[in-house]
Amino acid sequence: PADVLVVGGGLAALRTVAALRDHGYDGPVRLLGAEGVAPYDRPPLSKHLLDRSSPAWLADDLGHDLHALADEVHLARPARALRPLAGGGAVVTTDEGELTSSCVVLATGAHATTVPGWHARTLHTAADADGLRAALAGGPRRLVVVGAGWVGAEVAGVAAAAGHAVTVLEAQAAPLSTALGAQVGALTAPWYAAAGVDLRTSARVATVDGTGILLADGSRLAADAVLVAVGARPATRWLADAVPLRAGAVAVDESYRVLGPSGPLPGLLAVGDVAVRRSARHGWVPGGHWDEALHGPDVLVRRLLGVPVEGPEPTPYVFSTQLGHDLTMFGLPGAEDRVTVLGDPTGTGWTALWARGDLVTGALVVDRPRDVGAARRLFARDDLPRVVLPDAPGPDDDLR
Ligand code: FAD
Repeated sequence: PADVLVVGGGLAALRTVAALRDHGYDGPVRLLGAEGVAPYDRPPLSKHLLDRSSPAWLADDLGHDLHALADEVHLARPARALRPLAGGGAVVTTDEGELTSSCVVLATGAHATTVPGWHARTLHTAADADGLRAALAGGPRRLVVVGAGWVGAEVAGVAAAAGHAVTVLEAQAAPLSTALGAQVGALTAPWYAAAGVDLRTSARVATVDGTGILLADGSRLAADAVLVAVGARPATRWLADAVPLRAGAVAVDESYRVLGPSGPLPGLLAVGDVAVRRSARHGWVPGGHWDEALHGPDVLVRRLLGVPVEGPEPTPYVFSTQLGHDLTMFGLPGAEDRVTVLGDPTGTGWTALWARGDLVTGALVVDRPRDVGAARRLFARDDLPRVVLPDAPGPDDDLR
């Protein structure tokens, strides 16, 4: 391409710029961000909510100096609109005028999901984390977390460990149900009480006001701080109807080309949390995985520049440290997939495997470092792995 315009200022945007230069692209590269700060790493915001703060979070430059790699960097100039051009590329509108580019990469990530009318915090940026940290400062506080997903579980754990009184309200019957399904999610429920967190499942929140939470059953819960951690939605509102969306995300093919009504739109790519990627191996892969924002841009740039892609496509991969446990998840299990648990879920470590027929679609490894390597190897191939799973696994079964 004659030039590249990257829209977004997070990990996927930075890695796109870095990959362009790594693979020898020497044309002009411009970047538009919205947060006003250089790209930084988000996973520590929840895991190190109380033992770090912005100076440390923002100092993590993810191993690259954006200003040295790109020709123009505008970290506080959000894109407001996009108009694809018939000949390829697009015109991007900002408050300071229009930018035309022959190759636009959408990497605007996601926003934390909010509930209209609720007076509650969310956690997606370093500024959000600073605000929540400040709300918990100065002695034990009552923290209510709405949502027992990855972020909610992590924040609940670190806050309880620091002596705060933490209640987690989860609408579904078990924590992590969206990612793991109710059966495997339920295996994490005992961790809450063990960590001193009051977990209430099947809890319906009616509203959150300045003093606390009103539940659908009419009861009230007082709180000094309320965090709503009910997921993230791709940051696509600024695109209006410029490109078709799939479940709110920008649909891309295996080469990260944005899919229009009749095929890829020339000179328009998307990667990271904003995108949902078509995959022969996994079906549609949504964003929300740090690893996709880390490795997707390299594949995008290789395909763009005609550099051969080595190895299989990026495997959906999530890690979490929560309530004293280490979780690593590979693949993308479907709601109907069969689950086998190896090891003892009440003991020192276990691994859940999901299968569709004899194809393994997902693996969750909990506190079992040696299974992490085995699971990674299983998914490091072009096809979904086939393994024979025991019908009645014993406590000593593992993934070797
Ligand atoms: P983002 O990180 O969202 O970055 C997008 C950037 O683009 C933002 O700076 C945004 O302000 C900017 N932007 C938005 N709109 C515009 C616009 N119109 N114009 C210009 N710029 C714009 N994943 C894991 O796998 N494991 C974890 O343990 C884990 N922990 C997490 C903990 C927290 C608290 C959070 C919030 C996320 C966590 N994640 C984790 C998810 C992971 O951080 C994301 O998958 C990753 O950040 C995605 O990177 P991204 O660059 O696509 O998007």
